[in-house]
Amino acid sequence: MDFAHDATTEQLRRELLEFMEDFVLPAEPVLARQLAEADPWVKPKVIEELKAEARRRGLWNLFLPDREHGAGLTNLQYAPLAEITGRSPHLAPEALNCAAPDTGNMEVLAMFGSAEQQRAWLRPLLDGRIRSAFCMTEPEVASSDATNIATRIRRDGDEYVIDGRKWWSSGAMNPECAVFIVMGKTDPGAERHRQQSMVLVPRDTPGVRVERGMRVFGYDDASHGGHAEVVFEGVRVPAANLIGGEGDGFAIAQARLGPGRVHHCMRLIGMAERALELMCRRALERVAFGRPLAEQGVVREWIAESRVRIEQARLLVLKTAWLMDTVGNKGAHTEIQAIKIAVPLMAEWVLDKAIQAHGAAGVSQDHPLAELWASARTLRLADGPDEVHRVSLAKRELKRYA
Ligand SMILES: Cc1cc2nc3c(=O)[nH]c(=O)nc-3n(C[C@H](O)[C@H](O)[C@H](O)COP(=O)(O)OP(=O)(O)OC[C@H]3O[C@@H](n4cnc5c(N)ncnc54)[C@H](O)[C@@H]3O)c2cc1C
Repeated sequence: MDFAHDATTEQLRRELLEFMEDFVLPAEPVLARQLAEADPWVKPKVIEELKAEARRRGLWNLFLPDREHGAGLTNLQYAPLAEITGRSPHLAPEALNCAAPDTGNMEVLAMFGSAEQQRAWLRPLLDGRIRSAFCMTEPEVASSDATNIATRIRRDGDEYVIDGRKWWSSGAMNPECAVFIVMGKTDPGAERHRQQSMVLVPRDTPGVRVERGMRVFGYDDASHGGHAEVVFEGVRVPAANLIGGEGDGFAIAQARLGPGRVHHCMRLIGMAERALELMCRRALERVAFGRPLAEQGVVREWIAESRVRIEQARLLVLKTAWLMDTVGNKGAHTEIQAIKIAVPLMAEWVLDKAIQAHGAAGVSQDHPLAELWASARTLRLADGPDEVHRVSLAKRELKRYA
């Protein structure tokens, strides 16, 4: 067993760390200023500047293992890079064209898209010229069970007609968002997992109405392009916009989530590392009752426990990435669920302790901790709530003995 990164990964890590230090971290206050000053749904200029710089440095599309379209890195090579971008999750992933939901959507198009769909949507996404959204979750049905999805996709001659209401469509309000991947039912009478299909819907199609952005603990998440509620009313798209075949939607949704979960988990480790760093710095400089906080046993306990939890989580995520590379996403199913359960909880815990060590400053807008905590907390829901992963993991574990 070799725990060292290979030479390619090491080189990219060095280049990425330099980019983060010189460009991304200094851009954080600029982003905050631009978001505060501008219309919240106008793209902050600083993001475009970072994208241009990242591309110039070859730090682009690193997430996509497919050599034809992406950087050709394995999951194990990409994981430590995703971790670094997690230190600044509102800027770095997008700067590198490695941000959700586009990454998952690009994977879907690379794996299942027709040549025409790839030309029309995958190419501009890979170039960072447009962005996209993934519309599965619905307000009216428990969407952690994707078979519940009620949006209807009906065939009418050479077209599909879409009717339904979605919410939490991340990125849908981004000014550059040009296309949605919409999941709905083409055949409600079919077997439970064959009722769903996915279609590509350009955002400007008549009948598409982006109604509002959902707030996350009061944050508008505008730098992520907002999480929108979207209504589809008699929306017509060409039949050629179907991804894969009718009834493939559920399977495509499952395929989409594997790598995405590893990416989220690696970024969460980066967030936790940043929280631990901030906690240590604060504890060393802040003096209460005559001595630095770092000399209080309870604070040392938080710091030690954070390091232990981060290391445990990282090893499990790297093992998962390695399994995905060697035995495939299916073979790594248990581990993918395990990290989706363990890592958001770990990051939430470390961030909570870092906030506590900062006192009231920790919950304020002067430090990134509160917003990072909000992001980490949402990942106990997004891409499947903890409980759903636990139920499914336990079921598979029990099966071995039944
Ligand atoms: C920040 C953010 C971004 C998101 N981005 C997107 C996006 O881009 N596109 C998209 O389509 N969706 C997105 N989502 C939605 C997310 O995927 C759903 O919220 C999630 O799948 C849960 O669905 P639900 O909210 O309908 O919860 P429900 O299905 O109503 O579940 C509610 C709760 O019930 C419990 N529960 C459910 N099933 C079980 C079970 N089997 N056993 C025990 N308990 C259970 C869980 O505690 C769960 O949290 C996003 C969500 C957030 C917060």
